[in-house]
Amino acid sequence: MNYLKPYLLLLALGLFSCTRDNLQSTLAEERELNIVNVTHHDGRPFSTETAGDAVTPRSFAAGPGGGVMMQAFYWDPPAGGAWWDTINSKLESWSNAGIESVWLPPVSKGQSGASSMGYDPTDYFDLGDYNQNGTVETRFGSKTELLSLISQAHAQNMKVYADIVLNHNSGGQLENNQYTGTQTWTDFTQVASGKFLRTQHDFHANWVHSNDEGYFGGFPDLCHEVPFVQDWLWKRSDGVGKYYKNVVGFDGWRFDYVKGFAPWVVSEWNSNVGGWSVGELWDANVDYLNWWANEANSSVFDFACYYKMNDAFDGNNLSVLYDDMMWKRNPFKAVTFVANHDTDEIWNKMLAYAYILTHEGYPTIFYRDYEEWLNKERLNNLIWIHNNKATGTTSILYADNDEYVARRNGYNGPGLVVYLNNSNSWQQRWVPTNWYNTQIKDFTGHSSWYPTTQGGGWVEIQCPPKSYTIWSPNI
Ligand code: ZN
Ligand code: ZN
Ligand code: ZN
Repeated sequence: MNYLKPYLLLLALGLFSCTRDNLQSTLAEERELNIVNVTHHDGRPFSTETAGDAVTPRSFAAGPGGGVMMQAFYWDPPAGGAWWDTINSKLESWSNAGIESVWLPPVSKGQSGASSMGYDPTDYFDLGDYNQNGTVETRFGSKTELLSLISQAHAQNMKVYADIVLNHNSGGQLENNQYTGTQTWTDFTQVASGKFLRTQHDFHANWVHSNDEGYFGGFPDLCHEVPFVQDWLWKRSDGVGKYYKNVVGFDGWRFDYVKGFAPWVVSEWNSNVGGWSVGELWDANVDYLNWWANEANSSVFDFACYYKMNDAFDGNNLSVLYDDMMWKRNPFKAVTFVANHDTDEIWNKMLAYAYILTHEGYPTIFYRDYEEWLNKERLNNLIWIHNNKATGTTSILYADNDEYVARRNGYNGPGLVVYLNNSNSWQQRWVPTNWYNTQIKDFTGHSSWYPTTQGGGWVEIQCPPKSYTIWSPNI
């Protein structure tokens, strides 16, 4: 029987040399998991801090999981100049809920005056303090009310982001245009602030070229190649960018319609003015989003993630969440969202919020979802989980039509496992965690299980129908 011994020895060696990873992948195959490590970095959280930035001190730093942004408006909130006060009155409770920042609609006077949402800017320096376009206050209020809102936000340790419309202007006077041979509404020499007095030479077509990357709605299209335009937008100390940042007190920027001009414009603004920024590049193409973010030196809204969530949650095909998204390419330049003032297609919203608030990127909460439409307590629970537990790189553990399980691998902390269930019945599943012989619990309270992970990290978790659970060590 001696001839058996070498084989037994080899078998034993084979078993002992089997790493935890090998065991995990073997068990994963048995349990039909498809484990994909989505992101590869040192695990540090999303941060909106800018090095050496005096206006944005470290005191604004968010929790271990990074910050959460509130989009503090929707399309056509009540007119009449009360909106800044409405937002102001909510800042303390938002800050207490763990919201790091607020994104405001464009603050300057638009052509449509008291009813303008601000996306038709006439005078960047009229913040509701000049009688212009039929009104002193903007739709949202007076300059004094805006400044009060911003100082209250800072008192609450929150940042405030301005919505910046750089592509087009609206509300100029008619002039004979030497470049087009027609009459155009490109004479802005009468604006009430007396600043940035633009004319036909500053809009397309002009002496530089006939056009840039895009026009919007037939509005006069600003030419950012013109030195006068660059001076007034981002170079001069009393120009738009530096005035908004250093005098008005904004901490960052949401750039509107960045398809309308080249990404170097945002890059120049950022390097001259400073502050964090995100661009509205309304496109699902991840290559395009990632290219723009790198060229512009800016974050970008993750429209790829938005459309994939729509397909996944409303189309009952959660395996779509394996697909490419901006946050997977670069979580530090992705701003995720479930709805905004322009588009609101996802109906299965709580699963979508559970997704963005447990995954990488900078999640945004839409005002109406938080204040009017969804369960605020549930959202606050997700924000707490985001800020405190959603750390580290991401691994997808499993997905099919109606179930999805992913793991945040932790960073100076345990991370989490999130289980989404879009089916009509309870589900349960064995998954590999990074925790060994550790009792875990569901921090949403949807499951009452307190399971203990095995020596290899495996544990069985559960999720109620049309709901989500989020697991982490019970500490
Ligand atoms: Zn141009
Ligand atoms: Zn343009
Ligand atoms: Zn299933």
